Amino acid sequence: MFADRVRIHVTAGAGGDGSPSMRREAHVPRGGPDGGDGGRGGSVILVAEAGLTSLAAFRRSPHVKATAGGRGARRRAHGRDGIDAFVIVPPGTVARRHPEGELLGEVLAPGDRLVLARGGRGGRGNVHFATSTHQAPRHYERGDPGETGWVELELKLIADIGFVGAPNAGKSTLLAALTEARPEVGAYPFTTTSPNLGVLALEAGDDEERGVVLADVPGLIEGAHRGQGLGHEFLRHVERCRVLLAVVNGAADDPVAEWRAVADELRLHEPGLLERPVRMAVTKQDLPEARQAWPAVSTALGADGWEPIAVSAHDGTGLDDVRRALAEALAEADARAAEIGPEPARRLHRFDPTADGWEVIAEADGLRVRGRGIERTAARTDFTNAESRDRFQRRLERLGIDAELRRLGARDGTLVRIGALELEWGDES
Ligand code: GDP
Ligand code: MG
Repeated sequence: MFADRVRIHVTAGAGGDGSPSMRREAHVPRGGPDGGDGGRGGSVILVAEAGLTSLAAFRRSPHVKATAGGRGARRRAHGRDGIDAFVIVPPGTVARRHPEGELLGEVLAPGDRLVLARGGRGGRGNVHFATSTHQAPRHYERGDPGETGWVELELKLIADIGFVGAPNAGKSTLLAALTEARPEVGAYPFTTTSPNLGVLALEAGDDEERGVVLADVPGLIEGAHRGQGLGHEFLRHVERCRVLLAVVNGAADDPVAEWRAVADELRLHEPGLLERPVRMAVTKQDLPEARQAWPAVSTALGADGWEPIAVSAHDGTGLDDVRRALAEALAEADARAAEIGPEPARRLHRFDPTADGWEVIAEADGLRVRGRGIERTAARTDFTNAESRDRFQRRLERLGIDAELRRLGARDGTLVRIGALELEWGDES
């Protein structure tokens, strides 16, 4: 089965804890704090690499993990940073959060990168917390956890030109005939169910050539737009082609009716699909029945607004005309794109909304404090460290959270949750 949609589980590394170390050296009379910072946790990063055409590998190993940052240490030593983990995918891969479906972003060109899970920040060591009135702090921060979650990857092939047509119209054969002249450029693997890709060298003025990617998209069947069979999967690939080549089976019983049925399918799936530059080839002109039918077929298609090109993949008829027509259609597509302007900037991914503020809500067995900032501070706090605990308490007071907890009935023994943390309220504090 063609793997163009997979789920992976990503786990970024936690940040390393800061260090609470105090200087202890013979020649330093009063050792101050010298605890260094924890290292940053590694992130999980999606990277597009040219030449890949499938996401199948992730079916076997869907778990991707980056490593944690190292702890800070004495003498202000920084913990080492965690190592990023790369998820290497074909260009045209779109990432969504699963199961929410929220778009995280996409990697379109080779080398494009997208952070799927951000590594945790390293905690600060106690050297950062010394002040004129408090010169030997024991307070330090713990590292932030790394982001984690399920991500759905979907591959949308980015072919410049998509071949559309009924089964047996001759799409695969034509693609091979058009690209076969340049065997060195088209090194894509293909199977019977994945789209066939080929690279066609087109003249782009001034002796320049550019390689354009052709995709022969199989599985276009009646009812495809209703999600029956493979068709629907493959129609998604067609959406991204800048130019389409309509391939009509010139030897079919009724070539015109067969093409019209395909066009109806495409319009039902996406009304704008055929509004991009499209050219048309009528195949199998080496066969007598196709040659016989050609005058009537070309007249009928012409009446529909097409300028069909008679081709044969077997004897080479019309192949140069098709190349020229496709080059012209690409130039049209480029001109249109220039008119519309650059694509909107790619969305960068953030797991955290930048919401500040907090709220206290009552839960069945206690109270819960919610708020990105305070949850983060709580996670960075080592509650077995008296000084860090006091500091956290002062923060609750300063923000007014303490008063709100009391107002909502916090007293000795009340359970207070902040993020993943569970605290027992103590009234002496
Ligand atoms: P697809 O389903 O549209 O990809 O069609 P294929 O490329 O697989 O072709 C379907 C059948 O038509 C195959 O048996 C091909 O050999 C045949 N065919 C394709 N192109 C030509 C052609 O130009 N001339 C002749 N005589 N047969 C062709
Ligand atoms: Mg085919």
